[in-house]
Amino acid sequence: MVISSHYWLINAHIPQCLLRPIPSTQQHITKEGLVCCDLEIRAGKIIAIYPSELTPVIDNSVLSWDLKKGIVLPCFVDMHTHLDKGHIWERTPNPDGTFESALRAVAGDRSNSYDDLYRRMEFGLKSSYAQGTKAIRTHLDCPWDYFDLTLQVFKDLQTKWSDRLILQPVSLITLGEYAGKRGEVIADRIAELGGVVGGVPFTDPNLEHQLDRLFSLAKDRNLDLDLHTDENDDPTSQTLKATAEAALRHQFKGSIVCDHCCSLAVQRDEDVNITLELLKAAKIGIVSLPMCNLYLQDRHALKTPRWRGITLIHELKQAEIPIAIASDNVRDPFFGFGNHDGLEVFSMAVKIAHLDTPYGDWIKAITTTPAALMGLESNYISVGASADLVIFKARYFSELLSRPQSDRHVLRKGIAIDTALPDYADLD
Ligand SMILES: [Zn+2]
Repeated sequence: MVISSHYWLINAHIPQCLLRPIPSTQQHITKEGLVCCDLEIRAGKIIAIYPSELTPVIDNSVLSWDLKKGIVLPCFVDMHTHLDKGHIWERTPNPDGTFESALRAVAGDRSNSYDDLYRRMEFGLKSSYAQGTKAIRTHLDCPWDYFDLTLQVFKDLQTKWSDRLILQPVSLITLGEYAGKRGEVIADRIAELGGVVGGVPFTDPNLEHQLDRLFSLAKDRNLDLDLHTDENDDPTSQTLKATAEAALRHQFKGSIVCDHCCSLAVQRDEDVNITLELLKAAKIGIVSLPMCNLYLQDRHALKTPRWRGITLIHELKQAEIPIAIASDNVRDPFFGFGNHDGLEVFSMAVKIAHLDTPYGDWIKAITTTPAALMGLESNYISVGASADLVIFKARYFSELLSRPQSDRHVLRKGIAIDTALPDYADLD
């Protein structure tokens, strides 16, 4: 491994869709769209990119690291997590694996301990960082009694990790709770942390009114929106559609993402098409959480699940609606597993949603698309970009997605970081 301020990465397999500009070479592109490239790194930045056959002779005095066609990706962007709930499984499991039980279990696990919350949230940050994630958006439950504590822990971690991870908070409450003064306090406090207004809309006679209130709070503060919509299998659940209608009604200019959107997959084609049109008109992005959906949806005692739980990922993409994938919950009642690993999220998504044959540009869903939806700097591999890269020994997608790739290297600003995961005993 090279640790130097000036070096080359040679023979890197990079998905063409992650390179900007897209190289003109047609010679060294695999069937899966992987381009064999050489990258020059200096002072933490990528200063040159060449398709390997076009690389000029490299000065002998400059180190080079031959990746032997190992895949290189930009660092992951995990845009939907719940770090505050993470790693409570042992003390608060989900007794039957259902969504309803998860809600009840989490409500009974409100910790009023700064140290407990800090320790579990930081465990998530350490795990994410070590495996190659550079930015995380986390929803934060905002029960009024623990609101100050939760935001204090988040703020302290955001400051401590600011040189390694971009952290964006999202307020997570039911929309009715934004009524009155409390809604303004929550929006103001989230704004102070560079955050996003969020929540869970439910089918409700007051839904339109609740969405109007939410959009007004966000507009008044120039905040983006991030909503958990339709995380269920009820075709009459159409809060995604209602959110798009509200965005158009308010001529909302900020970024909006809607998460889960599971019920879209069980609606009639006519209804789906109307919602897709509205989403496109309102410029709403979708975040799919395939692992959590697989776990919670279609779960009934003593019955075999027949639905994978995910939204219409392919149809959304064909309608040119931006789509990201993310990890969601980790080892809590909403998902009993998980490891804060962007590669695992992509790997599982490929298998759950058939994102192979072809792989196309689906890898953007865990790298460049979420970066754009979060309003971050471009996350493409390009000249001038920070050398924040994940380097694998796997040379092709099948190799990449068949092993956990625990021996990956992660570069941040061109320097290889420690990729050891935190010890579970640190949670005690
Ligand atoms: Zn969520």
